[in-house]
Amino acid sequence: MSYATREDVERKLKSGWEPEYFNAPNPVIEKELIQTPYKEKLNPNIKIVVAGGGGFIGGAMVRYLKDRGFKNIVAADIKPVYEWYQTTEGVANLCLDLRDHKNAMALVQGAVEVYNFAADMGGMGFIETHRVDCLINSSKINDNMVEASWKAGATRYFFSSSACAYNTTLQQKHDVPGLKERDAYPADAERGYGWEKLIAEQKCQEMFIEKGMETHIARFHNVYGPHGTWDGGREKAPAALARKVIAVQEGDEDFVLIWGDGKQRRSFMYIDDCTEGVFRLMHNLNTTATPLNIGSEEMISVNELVDIIEDIIGIKVERKYDTSKPKGVVGRNSDNTMVRKFLDWEPRISFAEGMKPTCEWIKEQYRNRKAGKRTVS
Ligand code: NAD
Repeated sequence: MSYATREDVERKLKSGWEPEYFNAPNPVIEKELIQTPYKEKLNPNIKIVVAGGGGFIGGAMVRYLKDRGFKNIVAADIKPVYEWYQTTEGVANLCLDLRDHKNAMALVQGAVEVYNFAADMGGMGFIETHRVDCLINSSKINDNMVEASWKAGATRYFFSSSACAYNTTLQQKHDVPGLKERDAYPADAERGYGWEKLIAEQKCQEMFIEKGMETHIARFHNVYGPHGTWDGGREKAPAALARKVIAVQEGDEDFVLIWGDGKQRRSFMYIDDCTEGVFRLMHNLNTTATPLNIGSEEMISVNELVDIIEDIIGIKVERKYDTSKPKGVVGRNSDNTMVRKFLDWEPRISFAEGMKPTCEWIKEQYRNRKAGKRTVS
């Protein structure tokens, strides 16, 4: 695989390069690319900002960056620090509302890299019933973060978009082909949350084309793992179903209630694959300002998901179905052709493998809460 240099990117910009992301017949990255062998050496002392560092992916990213040797990491979240899913020693943790431009400006001063994971979001139960929050709160955060990062002279900016940005009409069958990056246009994104992501992607794309700040955009497909939301209404299917199976095992429930008919299919990516993919994408100049899938291609149904959880927990449960509950699109999977080509990588942890530590962590949380101890949810 080959890398581009910053000078190559400057040349690309001066040549009038533009991504064809409106009604694109081809994805941006099939256009001419700069192919210069180059591997950037990163200074471990650069200031790195992680917005949404108190959340699931942000918290894991902070730990990943620390483990890679970065020494000057600043994490920020609207939640008070004692509510963060995890904190990493040696990292500055700030409680800031990033809907406020002044807070965003203060946060990114002197930053070389900015990772933005802050968003008002949750699983289907949340995003289908809080469209206004998803649209307005996240939009304010994204406006502030991308603009402040540019004003402060940050070198690179990461934006966490979502598979919900894809055209929903392509996701109406159980056996749908994987979504390619071009499938976001013509646009018909998930109402609220998905449209906000699509517009925020465009802000990042134009920020590169017009202003020259390197932006990197991942379209995540369901991420799961320990240290994430597992109860309270914002949790996603893997955590919610693990919690429900555990509740039966613990004798607190008699059955597991599944939202929808259980036949809806998705792919799920383990958190360690996610952080690795983000780091690779952030440092790949060939895909600057180009949304790329970061997700697993292993598609399973919700019923199969429950089978796997049952095997891990060691119990068979009675299943009931509620088709009136939010269930999202019928089928969705990632097509990783582009990510394999440009990042020379793709997620490799299977769902059965990744769910083991996830179930263990949720069981610990569940038991702690039952015992009256403080937990994160
Ligand atoms: P999360 O909810 O765990 O983390 C988001 C964090 O942002 C939370 O800790 C929240 O408190 C914080 N936040 C919300 N409003 C804020 C504000 N005004 N100021 C500062 N912080 C604020 O979610 P996550 O799963 O870690 O997702 C991270 C990013 O990845 C989000 O942009 C999300 O849309 C995207 N994404 C996640 C998934 C997934 O499966 N987890 C899938 C697709 C996209």
